[in-house]
Amino acid sequence: MEKRLYIETVGCQMNMLDSELVVATLRKQGYVLTNSPDDADTLLFNTCSVREQAENKTYSHLGVLRDMKKQNPEKIIGVMGCMAQNHQHKIFTRAPYVDLIVGPGQLHQIPSMIQKIQDGEGKQIEVSLGRKDGSRAEITRSHESFDPLRDPEMRPTPFQAYVRIQIGCDKFCTYCIVPSVRGPEQGRSPEDILRESRHLAEHGTVEITLVGQTVNSYKATDSSGRLWRLADLLAELQEIPGLERIKFVTNYPKDMTRDLLEAVRDLSKVSPYLHVPLQSGSDEVLKRMKRGYTVADYRAMMDRIREIVPGYAVSSDFIVGFCGETEEEFQKTVELVEECRFKNSFIFKYSEREGTRGADLFIDDIPHHVKQQRNNDLLAIQNRISLEDNQKLIGDTVQVLVEGPSKTALKSAETPESPHATQLIGRTHCDRIVVFDGNPRQIGKILPVVVYDCHAHTLFGEVVTQECGPELFALG
Ligand code: SAM
Ligand code: SF4
Repeated sequence: MEKRLYIETVGCQMNMLDSELVVATLRKQGYVLTNSPDDADTLLFNTCSVREQAENKTYSHLGVLRDMKKQNPEKIIGVMGCMAQNHQHKIFTRAPYVDLIVGPGQLHQIPSMIQKIQDGEGKQIEVSLGRKDGSRAEITRSHESFDPLRDPEMRPTPFQAYVRIQIGCDKFCTYCIVPSVRGPEQGRSPEDILRESRHLAEHGTVEITLVGQTVNSYKATDSSGRLWRLADLLAELQEIPGLERIKFVTNYPKDMTRDLLEAVRDLSKVSPYLHVPLQSGSDEVLKRMKRGYTVADYRAMMDRIREIVPGYAVSSDFIVGFCGETEEEFQKTVELVEECRFKNSFIFKYSEREGTRGADLFIDDIPHHVKQQRNNDLLAIQNRISLEDNQKLIGDTVQVLVEGPSKTALKSAETPESPHATQLIGRTHCDRIVVFDGNPRQIGKILPVVVYDCHAHTLFGEVVTQECGPELFALG
């Protein structure tokens, strides 16, 4: 009998990839996806623990299901991902109607856990070891990478895919929960990454995004004992027929080495878009965050990028209102944003996380309204810079990978399958969002688009047409 699965995903690219793979695995067991929790037999929540707000949201979503579970006790409700690893049994206490808790290092167990619940074995929990719960080898083993064979039908855009190249993190920035919930840093075997990427390309994927918490720190040995770094992987991926674009996120400033930047410059498929979070423009704050670099190091990295990679775009993350951040320290961040001219920045208000070094060592002493003000101020400056830099692109032709109908088109009566002209959305090689009128048949193709207008985070363009006999046709 057909079983219905509802899944909700919050958080980073790693979570989106995990959800795709869990869905693919459960589909093989006869599940079909539903958009309605009421319709579902199994409901899974893939969660994030990076900020408290994300966890609170998950609890409030779970709260809504209390009555549903009372009326339909056979429905299975599961919490997976970082909050499952972080809160473990606490979730059963706060939401006693939850049946299943599974950490990000145990996702392969989901089908058997569901089976056990259906067989009447009661609630199930599978989590990995904490960072102090054993030897490094034991802890590492308990955080398993979940990378079953991919099926393009599982993705909303089958021509784009995330590929995991690294799990966990060993940087231990003082504010960050990730090393606790995702475990030790482990580079995935290069042979597995290349096999998966070839498989994806053979099944129509044109763009892959390599994901890892500090993706440019990647290192792993292959079966012959050769050490591979990110630049080696990129060189090999460049050779895969069918792949057109290769991106990688998220980068650690100290590991943005000259040889990696030269690979980005020399390999045509590798996107010159680099997401390298700075977090703060103050050396004192960076030290308290234990980021492992200074502002001078970051400046030197920006100089290397400017020197080596033509047409680059750099984006960043910032935390405002970190413990003890003075107005002066915040102003240093403002200055760095003005100086670096990021394509865009993700700005977060500091959220204290129990279990991190920051929570033990420092007091979360910046009032909420100050964090909010700094967030607004920095965002306004970043938006002005993004707009100014986008305006410089007006009149240029950019190569756009068409992702699908724009939000406006989706809201209008036209369906994505409609053969008629519609508003489409796509991204440039530098990850800039472009909106233009086109045809749904163009989805998944790379097209030249001339830019005629822009907002801070969107370019507006028109597909470049080329004369061919008496007709005009769109390239690509
Ligand atoms: N590994 C990536 C890195 O090193 O930049 C990012 C990991 S984290 C999931 C994404 C972003 O969340 C971070 O870059 C940081 O700006 C933000 N973040 C992490 N912990 C936070 C916290 N406790 N409060 C607010 N923002 C936080
Ligand atoms: Fe968190 Fe720092 Fe690791 Fe990024 S590098 S995941 S911010 S500990």
